[in-house]
Amino acid sequence: MTEFALDLNDDQKQVRDWLHGFARDVIRPAAAEWDEREETPWPVIQEAAKVGIYSLDFYAQQFFDPTGLGIPMAMEELFWGDAGIALSIVGTGLAAVGVLANGTEEQIGTWIPQMYGDVDDVKVAAFCSSEPDAGSDVGAMRTRAVYDEARDEWVLNGTKTWATNGGIANVHVVVAVVDPGLGSKGHASFIVPPNTPGLSQGQKFRKHGIRASHTAEVVLEDVRVPGSCLLGGKEKLDERLARARERAREGGERVKNAAMATFEASRPAVGAMAVGTARAAYDYALEYAKERKQFGRPIIDNQGVAFQLADMRTRIDAARLLVWRASWMAVSGKPFTAAEGSMSKLFASEVAQKVTAQAVQILGGNGFTREYPVERMHRDAAIYTIFEGTSEIQRLVIARTLSGLPIR
Ligand SMILES: Cc1cc2nc3c(=O)[nH]c(=O)nc-3n(C[C@H](O)[C@H](O)[C@H](O)COP(=O)(O)OP(=O)(O)OC[C@H]3O[C@@H](n4cnc5c(N)ncnc54)[C@H](O)[C@@H]3O)c2cc1C
Repeated sequence: MTEFALDLNDDQKQVRDWLHGFARDVIRPAAAEWDEREETPWPVIQEAAKVGIYSLDFYAQQFFDPTGLGIPMAMEELFWGDAGIALSIVGTGLAAVGVLANGTEEQIGTWIPQMYGDVDDVKVAAFCSSEPDAGSDVGAMRTRAVYDEARDEWVLNGTKTWATNGGIANVHVVVAVVDPGLGSKGHASFIVPPNTPGLSQGQKFRKHGIRASHTAEVVLEDVRVPGSCLLGGKEKLDERLARARERAREGGERVKNAAMATFEASRPAVGAMAVGTARAAYDYALEYAKERKQFGRPIIDNQGVAFQLADMRTRIDAARLLVWRASWMAVSGKPFTAAEGSMSKLFASEVAQKVTAQAVQILGGNGFTREYPVERMHRDAAIYTIFEGTSEIQRLVIARTLSGLPIR
């Protein structure tokens, strides 16, 4: 097991500086424009592809970094640049991880390259789980996948919502119910290949923040996909369902624990995005407070302002430590006995909201306008306490883990 270390090694520092340069020189200057346009920033994704940031190889390298710090470090830098654009760059990764986690080698080799496309023709992918009546309550999912044995095809029907890149993706990964009697244990994931008839984009949402990231409903009407599009394959699914039925009879604990471990491992990455946004607002507010003069002196000369900056930086550093700890635990296979992954996401997302609000306050009237980036950062920060499990759901997970009780 790799020792937990707070020092990045030379390779990591090099990658961090390279990402920071891209965030500073390419992402940040484009942020206001794409926020106003509320569209996917294709030219920026293409730039990221050109330099190697938008590729499976890049994420795989960070993912398999034995210290666990590769992904949080990358997320923090990109989201420091701009949250909406960064989500457009890393959003495909959500779908790719879905395939990496559950797919066969053949499925990984076939579909992940199609998710990213190539430098001259970049593509994106979408991960579609949430539904209008199944957000926090994943077990209430209704999208059905029914096997048509005669044609070795699965038929998908339902409506997905809130899908990042939904409808504009080349490849959609769709979670659907295959055994309604098993709740969330009766779900399976499917690839919907490019241009499959029956899949269409529903409403595209006009959002409060991260507006450069496309979020939409995905409607599935008699969508037929080959049997080979079931992630992991039919044999594995049948075995898993049989085990889930058996375990449901025994109380279901082992299955629950396996699913929990997956979420605990992925949540720190969202915490790292929040740290990136919070740091961006803090950096801006610090410089502004040194420059802006009132009463004949820089506003930072007042404890009322300087102490806010001290609190902001303290909270950001504390959030990063929780994120790094959880990421290291995930990569080291340490059990999350106190839901440390959820803890890191909960704390970092609330820090991002608090710190960006403080940055708006420090900029005064300017902070309230779209002429200054902290206004956008404050709107963007609101997403972190909502997606990948709301703050309330994180508290529920932590409380249940600590108490061992089914807290409601
Ligand atoms: C911009 C954006 C991008 C997204 N991207 C994706 C994506 O790519 N793929 C995808 O599948 N999903 C995505 N989501 C969906 C996201 O994960 C859900 O919005 C989230 O899980 C919350 O579900 P909900 O919106 O239905 O809220 P609800 O579940 O209706 O929750 C509403 C409120 O009730 C609270 N609440 C609910 N249950 C409890 C409880 N038991 N105890 C205490 N409080 C509770 C919640 O915390 C929340 O405050 C995205 C969402 C957004 C906004």
